[in-house]
Formats: sequence, C-alpha cells, structure tokens
Amino acid sequence: MAKITKCSFCGRREGEVNLLIYGIDGYICDECAEQAMEIIKETRKSPKNGGGELKNLPKPKEIKAYLDQYVIGQDAAKVALSVAVYNHYKRLNHWEDADGVELEKSNIIMVGSTGTGKTLLARTIAKMLLVPFAIVDATVLTEAGYVGEDVESLLARLLQAADGDVKLAEKGIVFIDEIDKIARKGDNPSITRDVSGEGVQQGLLKLLEGSVVNVPPQGGRKHPEQQFIAVDTRNILFICGGAFDGIEKRIAQRLNTHVVGFDAARNVAKIDKSNMMQYIAPMDLKSFGLIPEIIGRLPILTHLEPLDRKALRSILTEPKNSIVKQYIKMFAIDGVKLTFEEAVLDYVVDKAVEFGLGARGLRSLIEVVMMKPMFEVPSTGVTEYVVTLEFARQQVENANMAVLKESTEDK
Ligand code: ADP
Repeated sequence: MAKITKCSFCGRREGEVNLLIYGIDGYICDECAEQAMEIIKETRKSPKNGGGELKNLPKPKEIKAYLDQYVIGQDAAKVALSVAVYNHYKRLNHWEDADGVELEKSNIIMVGSTGTGKTLLARTIAKMLLVPFAIVDATVLTEAGYVGEDVESLLARLLQAADGDVKLAEKGIVFIDEIDKIARKGDNPSITRDVSGEGVQQGLLKLLEGSVVNVPPQGGRKHPEQQFIAVDTRNILFICGGAFDGIEKRIAQRLNTHVVGFDAARNVAKIDKSNMMQYIAPMDLKSFGLIPEIIGRLPILTHLEPLDRKALRSILTEPKNSIVKQYIKMFAIDGVKLTFEEAVLDYVVDKAVEFGLGARGLRSLIEVVMMKPMFEVPSTGVTEYVVTLEFARQQVENANMAVLKESTEDK
C-alpha cells in the first residue's frame, strides 16, 4: 500500500500544501515550518527581552576554549575578550539589582598589527554570543555635516542584527574596527577642520559613555526625511580594534625614557624588543592621538602578538576551518583525496614571511599554488592528488608577485 504523505504537524496531505519537507520519520509542510520558525524566534528573544535573564552563560574559560578552535595564539586578547563578554552578560542580568552596587561596563580596546587576528577574533566570538553583535568600521566615520557617516550610524548595524528590536539591540555588542583611523594626526589639534579626527572621537565618546542617540534606520546616508530611532547605549558593550601602525616606536620611547633609577639597567635588559606591543599602555594610545576621554572609556587594553613562523605554520592547518582543511574538503567533495607535502606548507610560510604578507598572505599563496589543480583535477578522474614542493615552488615562482601582494592588501 502506498504510504500517505502528510504533514506530521497539521495533518494536511501533500496536495493540500505548497511544500512538504521530508524528514527521517515524518514530514513538515511549509506553513508549519514557518510557524515553528516564529516560535523559535520568540523563544530566542524572550530571555533577552524586557529584563529577562540570560541563561546558561558560557564561562570565560569556555568562551576562550571556543576561540582556541579558530584562532591561533593571542592568549592575552582571548582572555580579555572572554572575560569582557562574560561580565557583559552578568551585568545585563544584574544591572538593576537593588543592592546599590552598579556593575559598570568595561569596553575593550585590542591593539595589534594588521592581519594578526583582531577581526577573526570578533567574527569567531560572534558565533557564540547570546546577544546581537555587529562589526563596524571606523574608517567610514566623519564629523556631522561632512560626506561620510555619522557616528550614530554604527548602531544601525546592531539594530539590524537585532531584527530591529531596539530593546535587544540595547544589550548588544559592537566591534569597532580600525579605531586608530580616527586618531588625531599629530599631538597638536589641527587648525584646519579635522574631518575624521577629534570631532568624530567626541561623537564616539557619546556612544561609549552611554547616552540615548538617534540612529538613522538604514545607516549611512543622511536623508532628512528618515525616521530616527532612539537607542540607549548604556548597556551596549563596545570592543574596539586597531593596528595603530608605528605605536611600537612610541612604546619603546616611553620605556626608554621612563626607566630610570638604579634598577633601570636591569629593566631595560628584560624588554623583549621583538614584541613591543605587549608593553602597551593607555598613554601610548594618547600619544597616538586618541583623546583621553575615549581611552578612559576603554578601560581594558589588550594586545595581539605579531605572528611568528610557528604561528603562521599552525594557522595553515590547525584552526577548525584552516585554509588547508578547506582545500581538502573542496577536493573531497569531488571524491579526490588531497594531501600537501609537509615541505609545501613550510615553503608557503617562508614565502609569506619573505614577502611580508603575514597571515593574510597564506591564503593568497595557497590559492596561487592550487589554481592549476583546481582547474584540471575535476576533469581527470583521479582520486588522489598530492601537492609537491617542486610543484608549489613552480607555481609561486611563475605567479605575478604584484598580484599576490595586491590581493592581500584590501582584505
Ligand atoms: P586583523 O583584523 O588583525 O587585521 P584578521 O583577523 O582580518 O586581521 O586576519 C586576517 C586573516 O589572517 C584571517 O582571516 C585569518 O585567516 C588569518 N589569521 C590572522 N591571525 C590569525 C590567528 N591568530 N589565527 C588564525 N588565523 C589568523
């Protein structure tokens, strides 16, 4: 007897619905699926809405362990992030307690050269957050009235991430990338209009301090007819990231000038010159051109380490979705077992270091190596493909290095 196919939820038969989705032991029709989705959305929202508690908070160690799966090294930044996110949740759950102890929020600033994993950390943590999260870029910001975006537009993304739910957005987290780009150039306030400097910092300060700001709903362009949405930023956690190019020199200067007294020689000797970033202090941000009020609102200052050869080598293979794993999967989909000779991976790391491409260069280099096999292998019917050192070297040497460099620049 033919099996009757009907929705296991509402009982309607195949002909009575638009679409019937097959499961292992049953079916669901399009309408029930949609309803289920609504229920999921509601339950997801409810604990975060209207003062409800966030439950099952991941502990800082759990958050870090999650980050460890995707990001190599950078322990200092991972610990700072994990603690900040955990405290953010606790604060959301308890900030209206009647005991008079107010948990203040601790926004973070992460300083580290470009390509050391700041954005990757932000993207990764986003996947496990219990609150809305948005990544925004400070480079688009300009002072009110100029071409570019007002500071308030940073929150438009967060509103989007919260599906337009203002209450939800007000508990969210915003990652502001390239915060160094709004630093005042030079220590003297400029005589000419400083379109992207102090004015923008003052605007940003308003957000960090916690105030009600008017957010243009679509973000970006300044349409006078737009309806603004009032968003209270008091409980929004801000995580800032920036490369602060050249800040190492300022750190070195400070360390040299500040180490005085009979202990000085010993202290200077202890300084690890290959990684000055680890000594970063708020005053370095000030001398870079961030106004003290902003620095004061970013009480947690953490740094990312420069990636050495060993770290680059790990980045190729170890993260859960490492570049090498991605290529192996791509080939596996076609039924081809892909392997790289160990020497190929060492070679790619060497080249990335030689060209000064850092972690971003790893992907470009592997792509150069893999272009030919990706083009040819699917038509050959082979079930195994080994990337040899000789082949990799040939591909990289034939490649146009200018292209390689360009492709890593604007990412
Ligand atoms: P940043 O934001 O610091 O400029 P990104 O996070 O954008 O750097 O890193 C660029 C790319 O380099 C990432 O997509 C990732 O593939 C790789 N990468 C950088 N740092 C790391 C790291 N610590 N662990 C794993 N991959 C990394």
